[in-house]
Amino acid sequence: MSKKYKIAVGGMNHESNTFNPIITGENEFVVLRGKEFESKVGDTYNSAKGLYEKLKSYGYDVIPTVFARAVPNGVVSKEFYLKIKNEMIERMKEIGEIDAISLSLHGSMRVQEIGDAEGDLLKSLKEIFKDVPIFASLDMHATITKDMTENCNGYVGYKTAPHIDTYETGAHAAYLTHCYLESGKNVYMSAYKIPILIAGEKSETSVEPMTSMINLLKKEEENPNILAASYLLGFPWADSKDAGVTALVVADDKNIANQCAKKLAAEFWNRKEDFKFHVETYGNTEAINIAINAKERPLYLSDSGDNPTAGAAGDSVDFINDLLKNDLVKQYNKDILYSGFFDPVSCEKCFEAGENADVDIELGGKFDNISKGTVKLNVKVIKLNECYGTYKSKIALVKYQNIFIVITSKHIGFGDNELLHSIGIDEYKCDIVILKLGYLEDCFKPSSKRAIMAASKGASCEILEDLPFNKVPRPIYPLDKNFNIDIEKALIK
Ligand SMILES: [Zn+2]
Repeated sequence: MSKKYKIAVGGMNHESNTFNPIITGENEFVVLRGKEFESKVGDTYNSAKGLYEKLKSYGYDVIPTVFARAVPNGVVSKEFYLKIKNEMIERMKEIGEIDAISLSLHGSMRVQEIGDAEGDLLKSLKEIFKDVPIFASLDMHATITKDMTENCNGYVGYKTAPHIDTYETGAHAAYLTHCYLESGKNVYMSAYKIPILIAGEKSETSVEPMTSMINLLKKEEENPNILAASYLLGFPWADSKDAGVTALVVADDKNIANQCAKKLAAEFWNRKEDFKFHVETYGNTEAINIAINAKERPLYLSDSGDNPTAGAAGDSVDFINDLLKNDLVKQYNKDILYSGFFDPVSCEKCFEAGENADVDIELGGKFDNISKGTVKLNVKVIKLNECYGTYKSKIALVKYQNIFIVITSKHIGFGDNELLHSIGIDEYKCDIVILKLGYLEDCFKPSSKRAIMAASKGASCEILEDLPFNKVPRPIYPLDKNFNIDIEKALIK
């Protein structure tokens, strides 16, 4: 066997929405340190698990340092980020001589005053561990920056959206580390960035043009010289000078990496107008009317402009205002489920009142600053759950007229049907389910007879042209149309 290499592993995962004013701090993160990682990683951090287990399978000495992860939200607190960063660096220094660093990163984490978190972290790591190679897995929505390409030897991103290949992508990053160590360092990265913003809901990989784009990547990876090919789409709900789509290739030859990345970037640019919503999409009122009149049940209706899993606040009242004033809703003789609202104050009030009590709440509007105001409701508390999931949120289920509303104490998102089960709801028995979500997560698809998306207002507004961008480079599609690019000048690495 070859030398027993020492590999330091770590992770940082957050998707930061700059239109959401919440500062994501220590309370929102789940942090695993050192040995704790081995017993707990399975529940929270699949790409890190894939990375770790694959490195172990090569017979390496793999040392977990720090892994920090939170649900997408507003930008991360500088104080918390620096604490995690310094701790990771200190733990790596304690290891002594290390042969490689392997990380599980998101790629679109942003920090107060600092901006690009991954670039900042990688830059510091390269300064301290000068000749140590660094490889990382990334989310498909990573926003690639100069600091990221200058201070890392190679990346690989997820190839599925919704992301169901996180474990495999972590393992793929481990494979890149392995290739570098076993090949005598012949690993090169090339990247081209093209000026496109894509709403998340136009880039599901089960539909075109993403299906074809992902197949292109897989075809390139059949070439034994190409170690990883990725499209990093960027995160559209961040106003950043680094916005854009990056085609990134890692290969055992510099020229091959460059040619392949250039070709992939050009292909993507050519297909930019083919990105469309595949879910039926309407304005709020039209979406509500269609949902009420439709025969299909259960029917899912997404309040997509305020999707916490895309980093929105999760307390915008834009959609619920239109729902409450709708005459068809008032006359509807069945129940509607709305999951839900991130509202710690209202949630606490429900817990103080207890199950079966009536209570006045001012729902929503504490954080979101795109649609202002709260909604005053006298609700009946139906069901309470003291501690749900990895992030230990309280959940309250309340009823107002014929609308059941889910309220959480923590910003955990509404993309998981387990949350509904935890308060006694079987989604198969529901008629209309409103989710603060974009496209349906896979867990909801078996029960869904029809899915409709309302293009509501909020920090994850799907109509990107309606968001107040100031920093993104211009021209950028689709904010700007009818312009062309010189692909040679798109080279960033
Ligand atoms: Zn993503």
